[in-house]
Amino acid sequence: LLMLGIETSCDDTAAAVVRGDGEILSQVVSSQEDLLVRWGGVAPKMAEEAHSLAIDQVVQKALDDANVSENDLSAVAVTVGPGLSLCLRVGVHKARKIAKSFRLPIVGVHHMEAHALVSRLVNKDLDFPFLALLISGGHNLLVLAHGLGQYVQLGTTIDDAIGEAYDKSARWLGLDIRKGGGPALEQLALEGDPNAVKFSVPMRQHKDCNFSYAGLKTQVRLAIESRNISTDDIPISSATRDDRQIRANIAASFQRVAVLHLEERCQRAVEWALKMEPSIKYFVVSGGVASNQYVRTHLNQIAEKNGLQLVCPPPRLCTDNGVMIAWTGIEHFIAGRFDDPPAVDEPDDMQYDLRPRWPLGEEYSEGRSASR
Ligand code: ATP
Ligand code: FE
Repeated sequence: LLMLGIETSCDDTAAAVVRGDGEILSQVVSSQEDLLVRWGGVAPKMAEEAHSLAIDQVVQKALDDANVSENDLSAVAVTVGPGLSLCLRVGVHKARKIAKSFRLPIVGVHHMEAHALVSRLVNKDLDFPFLALLISGGHNLLVLAHGLGQYVQLGTTIDDAIGEAYDKSARWLGLDIRKGGGPALEQLALEGDPNAVKFSVPMRQHKDCNFSYAGLKTQVRLAIESRNISTDDIPISSATRDDRQIRANIAASFQRVAVLHLEERCQRAVEWALKMEPSIKYFVVSGGVASNQYVRTHLNQIAEKNGLQLVCPPPRLCTDNGVMIAWTGIEHFIAGRFDDPPAVDEPDDMQYDLRPRWPLGEEYSEGRSASR
């Protein structure tokens, strides 16, 4: 079994070829770093153009690196949501074009399920059910994974995701965000005192598993302004030593509280999950922010404390990639969940079935009401 995976839901154009047994034959990612720096975020129209420019080369390179041709593939997997419609469309269009020409089945993949399931490629012993924390630029999800396509959502963010808070804070601190705001802030935080700035931990009065990062983001903004460091104009590279130390302290303090918030909610989620499924052995942490070493260390402590094993994919499989799409495609394909090849006369300008907003499983309501 040989699966091509295509991912274009946000700002990365990615493709990979993965074998049925989980062997990664190739992995290609083209990022829109320049656009992100210039526009301060993902501008859908720009992102769509960048995807359109990159997609053919990225897919071709994935095939070439894997030393296979389209004819060798068993099927094509592609992200159909959640994400930006304009961007999703580029990947789905490409996937259907290949599937149409080479008569291949198509597997439509949920981006967040892929972030979760790539952990099963990494750890072959990882069976359902398991608990997963998915932390990225747009999502902050705690889910109980019962099976393929079967998730119960224990918690989500009521405003921003943690990755968004990292990205904005990094920008405000004047960091070089070309390789991403998260990694830059994590690096600077190493030089800072995590107790220097007193940020308050979000949502402590709410005894549930939801998250909130908008307030913490604002606290960072205020901390920067009150210290009179005009970080918007002065990049960290030209800051004085004292100024750099102040910024590092803010970064470290932000990170401490941002992750403490994760820890508190995860501890509660573990308790909820074990009540529902006492057989759970694994705690999966994935999504871009899971590539952060501080995050990994602290969530490992939560896992160990509760007798669970942490499974955190290697960083390049945590951030957006084609491997997780191909692998999730494989899991669904084996389970018989795929679509037939597109009709030979399918028009190029067809309206595809995209799912820009696509919840991952149902909400856990009992926990909500029990927590009041
Ligand atoms: P989503 O998965 O919600 O659709 P996305 O696909 O854009 O969002 P990912 O690629 O999964 O997100 O993750 C990107 C996010 O991860 C960004 O917010 C980025 O700053 C963050 N991130 C990446 N590396 C780190 C790190 N070392 N520390 C903190 N955050 C990080
Ligand atoms: Fe993602």
